[in-house]
Amino acid sequence: MSVFSQIIDRSIPATVVAEDDRVIAIEDIAPKAPVHVLVIPKTDAYANVSELAAGDPALLAHVVATAQRIADERAGGQFRLVFNTGEAAGQTVFHVHAHVLAGDLQEGTLAS
Ligand code: AMP
Repeated sequence: MSVFSQIIDRSIPATVVAEDDRVIAIEDIAPKAPVHVLVIPKTDAYANVSELAAGDPALLAHVVATAQRIADERAGGQFRLVFNTGEAAGQTVFHVHAHVLAGDLQEGTLAS
């Protein structure tokens, strides 16, 4: 079971900033920007954004809309959305999630 599945079922703690029936949004434990929130689909059926786009595009759209809402609330609506896809690209948790990065971003700020 991924760390995110354990956060979703509350067996490990996290700082939850938004939640509904399809996604949970939490503060990243190792923030790389003043705003660094992870938007995580509750299903563990998709390892990465390509699988999610192919399997449930409406859920991907909901992840993006949730990211926008968080950025509206915390960063004037402007944000960087990162989906690390594959180990070589820095992905460490193979349960699809979006990094919402905002607030005084450096040119090279990526999630990993
Ligand atoms: P990635 O490297 O794209 O797979 O992103 C995984 C992210 O999850 C990293 O930015 C980690 O800092 C973050 N992370 C790992 N464990 C936790 C946790 N328990 N609570 C919050 N964020 C976490």
